[in-house]
Amino acid sequence: MKNTSDENSIIIIGAGFAGLSAGIYARMNGYNTRIFEMHDKPGGLCTSWSRKGFTFDGCVHWLVGSSPESAFNKYWEEVGIAQKSRIINFDEYKRFEGKDGRTVIFYSDVNRLEKHLLELSPQDTALIRNFTSAIRMCTAFNQPSSRVHFWERVKRNIKFGLTFVLHGKDMQKWMKTSAREFSEQFTDPLLREAFTDLWIPEFSMLFMLFTFAYLHNRNAGYPLGGSMPMSKILEERYTGLGGVINYKKRVEKIIVENNRAVGIRLTDGSEHRADRIISAADGHSTIFNMLDGRFVDEKIREPYEKWPIFNPLIFISLGINDTFSGEPMTVSGFSFPLNKPEEIGDAVRDRINIHIYNHDPAMAPEGKTSIIIILNSEYNYWKKLAEDINAYKSKKEEIASKITMILEQRYPDISKKIEVIDVATPLTFERYTGNWQGSFEGWLITPANSYVFMKPMSQQLPGLDNFYMCGQWTEPGGGLPTGIMAGQRLIRKICKEDHRKFRIIVK
Ligand SMILES: Cc1cc2nc3c(=O)[nH]c(=O)nc-3n(C[C@H](O)[C@H](O)[C@H](O)COP(=O)(O)OP(=O)(O)OC[C@H]3O[C@@H](n4cnc5c(N)ncnc54)[C@H](O)[C@@H]3O)c2cc1C
Repeated sequence: MKNTSDENSIIIIGAGFAGLSAGIYARMNGYNTRIFEMHDKPGGLCTSWSRKGFTFDGCVHWLVGSSPESAFNKYWEEVGIAQKSRIINFDEYKRFEGKDGRTVIFYSDVNRLEKHLLELSPQDTALIRNFTSAIRMCTAFNQPSSRVHFWERVKRNIKFGLTFVLHGKDMQKWMKTSAREFSEQFTDPLLREAFTDLWIPEFSMLFMLFTFAYLHNRNAGYPLGGSMPMSKILEERYTGLGGVINYKKRVEKIIVENNRAVGIRLTDGSEHRADRIISAADGHSTIFNMLDGRFVDEKIREPYEKWPIFNPLIFISLGINDTFSGEPMTVSGFSFPLNKPEEIGDAVRDRINIHIYNHDPAMAPEGKTSIIIILNSEYNYWKKLAEDINAYKSKKEEIASKITMILEQRYPDISKKIEVIDVATPLTFERYTGNWQGSFEGWLITPANSYVFMKPMSQQLPGLDNFYMCGQWTEPGGGLPTGIMAGQRLIRKICKEDHRKFRIIVK
């Protein structure tokens, strides 16, 4: 493809899920597309990496729309993931072990979950039933795919419509309640602690309800093999449609002439032109670095000044010479209390959550297992620490040895079986994906900004023509399905601008 502007040409910055999705739908509609990606592989945050035969997954725990019976599944089919992935569903979302010896099991099945919670805390009956009824309400938001038998489809669609009409107010109430506000209402200290730990405390409760509803409907399964195979499928689908990807090409500036985006300049100094430019890269660096903050108004600035982001993470990966066959298989692992509080990184922690990949044989050599431990962290702490590279490195080493010591408490002699231990910080996320402050999913949806649920953020900037954004920084809540939908939403808009009928090709 030539390096100057031609009719229909689009340059896309970033080969994460959103960039690849935009590329796929653009190719389906006859646009000439080139993706420029700074990394040497596709997927952005949806990634995994290998060390000494172990694979560590940096992303997918659950994939909304994984059920072939769900209408959302058609997106996965369009981009090729549904046909090529093997999905498993878990009976448990997560376990939370209390200091008092009791364990809360967050079952995927809402009836089982309700029974278990009531057994644990009869004194919280009203609150528990309130919670589980709300999950049941959300299970109706599961529009059926065309694979579902006609009359069953009609029935489910009516239920969907009625729920929307009859329960709109309830949904608003849940939307306006944070996970912390809800959790604090439990009288049982174990449930209070478990629910607080389950979700990001500021996050709107509605999303917790939807997650459990998806799990109940077996519509948020795990794709065996994890994240990287999915990213490769998207890449293959895109190039199969004739799209071009240039790897190891970091975009430094978006070239603007007469308030119109006309091209990009890479860090190697080369310039590339196209009729339209889409940034599917990090929002902050797109707006404030690549475009020097020249196309912003209050509305664009507000999130970057006021909205909370999904916490940056300390991400610890371990390769262990053990099967962990007796441990539960869950979506998100289990949380257990430490013998005594420990300072790990920038905070004192009294428990950790451990995610054992004993459900996916692709993640480790036979007889061995990959484990992931994720801790919330502060970006600024690491930024400051990294001013002294030796201090930064030794903090990572200290974390590795503290985690080993903590695991010894639960699995005596495990240190002899550890073959790999690797610590990533918010700076690692920032370096590899460019995401602002190392955030792993963009904007958090809280009661304060929940209006975005009904009114999507703009994919354009004021005063700048032929320029668009898509991905987790224009779709609060982030996530993989959102990335695919964002790409499709944008190409539909571009087709509309060109008076072109939007079309989808399913292979
Ligand atoms: C630990 C973890 C667990 C998660 N679990 C789930 C889950 O279970 N389910 C789910 O749905 N989602 C999950 N997510 C969230 C999901 O991974 C993200 O929301 C999604 O991948 C974001 O996609 P994106 O395309 O918008 O952005 P990104 O993936 O960040 O893609 C942006 C791309 O742009 C590239 N780029 C950036 N700057 C430049 C530049 N200057 N020049 C060229 N290229 C550039 C980057 O390298 C990257 O490839 C998880 C994320 C993490 C980290």
